[in-house]
Amino acid sequence: MAKIIAIANQKGGVGKTTSAVNLAASMAATKRKVLLVDLDPQGNATMGSGVDKYDVEFSTYDLLVEETPLEKIIITETAGGFHLIAGNGDITAAEVKMMEMYGRELRLKNALAKIKDSYDYIFIDCPPSLNMLTVNAMAAADSVIVPMQCEYYALEGLTALMDTITQLAKVVNPDLKIEGILRTMYDPRNRLANDVSEQLKHHFGDKVYRTVIPRNVRLAEAPSFGAPVMYYDKSSSGAKAYLALAGEMLRRSNKTKAA
Ligand code: ADP
Ligand code: MG
Repeated sequence: MAKIIAIANQKGGVGKTTSAVNLAASMAATKRKVLLVDLDPQGNATMGSGVDKYDVEFSTYDLLVEETPLEKIIITETAGGFHLIAGNGDITAAEVKMMEMYGRELRLKNALAKIKDSYDYIFIDCPPSLNMLTVNAMAAADSVIVPMQCEYYALEGLTALMDTITQLAKVVNPDLKIEGILRTMYDPRNRLANDVSEQLKHHFGDKVYRTVIPRNVRLAEAPSFGAPVMYYDKSSSGAKAYLALAGEMLRRSNKTKAA
């Protein structure tokens, strides 16, 4: 059965989408069956997977609102070797429509329950806000990966985010766990980044991934090429970092299974 992981941080521009796309591709490269759900109306994860968000017949909207059969919604051909449920501007309408629906917090969870058995990992790329879409992701997920930049105020924001996740979990998903905290766009020459990184490890211990995602221009370029970075420049530091992250996640989950 798939592990469902939401990639969330209410802050924009911290590397959620980059992490969702490249982690999905890296996991798929290890022969795991992976589904990526684009829950952001910006549809950046969709474009970054080599799928034109303007040209899809179905999207997460249809998953959440119309209950369209999943075999119609799931896109099996992406540039990353994973399956995709596309996101685009239609999702904004889904958020509005869901507000008047019964069990609105659980729409995504119930939809994904039907296909959980077909995958090893389901990643959800969340929008940069705490709206009904993010609540749906938190309700559906087994755990959350929080990407963050090691900059001033980052810890403050992170503590606030952790509180929010805990509060939300109490209501919609008491079993929700923090999968890990991921340091993104990391520049080891930056002293502040190193300081924040140390504080992070001090506060959150093992929850902080050992793998660090460096600032790497290839990661920013890859979406315009319509592919995850490992298929754009496989020797780049960004490609190696996301492969290392997938490896670290797999080792961690083996450890918990053995324990
Ligand atoms: P979010 O989904 O949290 O808003 P994105 O993943 O879209 O964040 O990243 C924001 C911007 O930073 C994008 O332009 C992306 O290409 C760029 N970016 C993300 N991670 C890196 C990185 N490690 N190195 C360089 N640029 C990055
Ligand atoms: Mg994003």
